[in-house]
Amino acid sequence: MKRLVVLGGGESGVGTAILGKKEGYDVFVSDFGKIKDNYIDVLTKYEINWEDEKHTEELILNADVVMKSPGIPDKAPIIKKLVELNIPVISEIEFAAPFTNAVTIGITGSNGKTTTTMLTYHLLKEGGLNVGLGGNIGKSFAWQVAEENYEVYVLELSSFQLDGIINYKPHIAILTNISPDHLDRYDYKYENYIESKFRITKNQTAEDYLIYDSDDEATEKRLQNNKVKAQLIPFSITKQLDKGAFLNNNIMEVKINQEEFLMETEQVALEGKHNLKNAMAATSVAQLMRIRKQTIRESLSNFQGVEHRLEKVLKIQNVQYINDSKATNVNATFFALDSMNAPTVWIVGGVDKGNDYSELMALVHEKVKAIICLGVDNKKIIDAFGNIVDMMVEVDNMSDAVNTAKHIAEKGDMVLLSPACASFDLFQNYEDRGKQFKEAVKNL
Ligand code: ADP
Repeated sequence: MKRLVVLGGGESGVGTAILGKKEGYDVFVSDFGKIKDNYIDVLTKYEINWEDEKHTEELILNADVVMKSPGIPDKAPIIKKLVELNIPVISEIEFAAPFTNAVTIGITGSNGKTTTTMLTYHLLKEGGLNVGLGGNIGKSFAWQVAEENYEVYVLELSSFQLDGIINYKPHIAILTNISPDHLDRYDYKYENYIESKFRITKNQTAEDYLIYDSDDEATEKRLQNNKVKAQLIPFSITKQLDKGAFLNNNIMEVKINQEEFLMETEQVALEGKHNLKNAMAATSVAQLMRIRKQTIRESLSNFQGVEHRLEKVLKIQNVQYINDSKATNVNATFFALDSMNAPTVWIVGGVDKGNDYSELMALVHEKVKAIICLGVDNKKIIDAFGNIVDMMVEVDNMSDAVNTAKHIAEKGDMVLLSPACASFDLFQNYEDRGKQFKEAVKNL
């Protein structure tokens, strides 16, 4: 019997353990932190051995294969030991994919993964396919492979998931875009992070597809320098293309395999240029999967977006409050500011991951009337924008941020929370930050 050791007892770890058990592996789950009670109940129910708050080497280093949860860095001592012993350390996707015949659609990129994944899922589901949703969101992919019978999966894949693949290939891959993020996990080398994203296509063949942003510099450059085997489907909002998705005045066109899909951009429910890109990518998948055009059109016009991503909260005294708490890097905030169409009070700040604010200057100059710095250390933001925005206020909690914004904003203005930073200085995570924002707005 082969021994599967699962490191990390969260959603993907427990899911992998269940699949491993079903497939006849001797399974052991080990978590250096505490495993949540609900997952302990599941492991107990499935009679899977586990430990938490430690890694017992005798029970781990005898593995035939190890599934590492995405949150565990390669630098963790236990991972180093496994690598030294030449024991394969893989991700959930790599482990689970061979146990299903389903078509998988893998979605990665620096920004837009969740939105594009949810939208693609929505299009395929409305199109009547028997489709599951997994990867970084929702229920574990491996768990679904063990217990569900989907014919298609739409999977959000982070670079950490991709780092742990050996043979996995999605039939259709989407690479939304690449901009510097998580560089701490890639030896501070942007090239390493780009390579990690491109792993999504490394096992693809000429029967597979890679959908990508041809306006994205890093992606284009990598594609020019290294051939990929998959069929390429580009999308662009700046130029017309012979194939793929592009804009023709106010019409979104998607040309794939002699088929052409047309839709007025105004009819697409998601707002902002970045979301048009996400819609182009998702529509390309729907076309490849032969969803009816009328269904695609309806689904694009009724998709309501995802919480904490340019989410409209409330309009109070004719001021629109927008929650973009998920914007944890400069590129995401760029598109948020870009889609503001009125003078904006911008709430920004948190834990800076090495941000370069220069690319925001023009937009801030054009759109932002006041900046509210919401972070423990706001020096970089003040240094960057102090000269171009007249009003800058520092606060250290959400309620003060929102109340200050209310005082500054006038009729017709917008108040945007788009922090460009991680949240851990003042909040548990970006969801907590977004929820507190919405609460504070509701209490105004
Ligand atoms: P991810 O899952 O990759 O973090 P999300 O869909 O959760 O992506 O969006 C994260 C942030 O990036 C949000 O602030 C969102 O408004 C912004 N965003 C969404 N799509 C894009 C895109 N294509 N390019 C740049 N920013 C985007």
